[in-house]
Formats: sequence, structure tokens, C-alpha cells
Amino acid sequence: MTDCIFCKIANKEIPTTPVYEDEKVIAFNDLNPQAPVHILVIPKKHYSSLKEIEDFSVMADLFAAVSKITKEKNISDFRTVINTGAEAGQSVFHIHVHILAGRPLKWPPG
Ligand code: 5GP
Ligand code: ZN
Repeated sequence: MTDCIFCKIANKEIPTTPVYEDEKVIAFNDLNPQAPVHILVIPKKHYSSLKEIEDFSVMADLFAAVSKITKEKNISDFRTVINTGAEAGQSVFHIHVHILAGRPLKWPPG
């Protein structure tokens, strides 16, 4: 999708240092981190949100990457978040999994 910032990151139109990358997925540090570790994991293919996904192998690809990243970085405790829709806090409409870690995280979230 031409106007999508995360597609531009996935296509390397915007230079990014990936935390992790494979054929289908790329992960990179959040621009505005909310915790000492704040990584975004995205599919290279554009889906605006979870609502658009019908082939759930995409979710398996994303969470396989989460598992590899957290293991490689020795992150034992972490939170994964997928905001779906503006009211739930989604601001970039290319599906992404947040990985948050490195400080105590409160529950319920705001
Ligand atoms: P959302 O609010 O949609 O769940 O999360 C979007 C996240 O993307 C936010 O945490 C925001 O800081 C991050 N973000 C927005 N634009 C960019 C960007 O250009 N580069 C990076 N690395 N992160 C971004
Ligand atoms: Zn996109």
C-alpha cells in the first residue's frame, strides 16, 4: 500500500535497522518507546488490522517471530499487544504486534 508508513519500512523505502527479519515478517524498534523494550512486529504484506485477516497463518508468522525475538534477547517477561481500531488505540493501520518489556507493566491498561 503506497501511503502506509509500515509498508515503506517493510519495503526499505524508509531505512530501518531490523530487530528481526524473515521472508514474511519484519520487526523494528518503536519510534516512541513506551518501555525499555518496545518492538513492533509486522507482516511484510499489508493488512490494515486484525479485522482484515482471513488467513490466520499470518498471525502464526507474527507470533513465531515474537518467540524468536524474545528468546534471542533473553526477554523472559513481556507483553504482546495488538490494538485493533482507533478507539482501542490503533494509530497505524498496518497490523502490528507490540512487544513491551523491561519494566513492570500495569493491568488493566489505560
Ligand atoms: P498503534 O498505536 O497503531 O498500536 O501503534 C503504532 C506504533 O507505531 C506507535 O507505538 C508508534 O510510536 C509507532 N510508530 C509510528 N510511526 C512510526 C515510524 O515511522 N517508525 C517506527 N519505528 N515506529 C512508528
Ligand atoms: Zn502497510
